[in-house]
Amino acid sequence: MRTTRDRAVKPITYAQPPVELPLRTDPEPVPAAGCGVCAALASQRREARLLSDHSTVSDCNVELRNHPHPGEVA
Ligand SMILES: [Zn+2]
Repeated sequence: MRTTRDRAVKPITYAQPPVELPLRTDPEPVPAAGCGVCAALASQRREARLLSDHSTVSDCNVELRNHPHPGEVA
């Protein structure tokens, strides 16, 4: 037996606020002090940025981020 409690939930007919995606503000990796590889990547990144070569900038960031440094706290 059906009662009034069984009626469907009222559909949403008003506009909903847009979903806000978290802004990606990952800081750029900084070269480790005393690491020649990091220093080279950092200078390559700087040059690429001057040339508006964003894909190279991004590649350098990835390499910098992934460059292992023993003793560093992950
Ligand atoms: Zn390094």
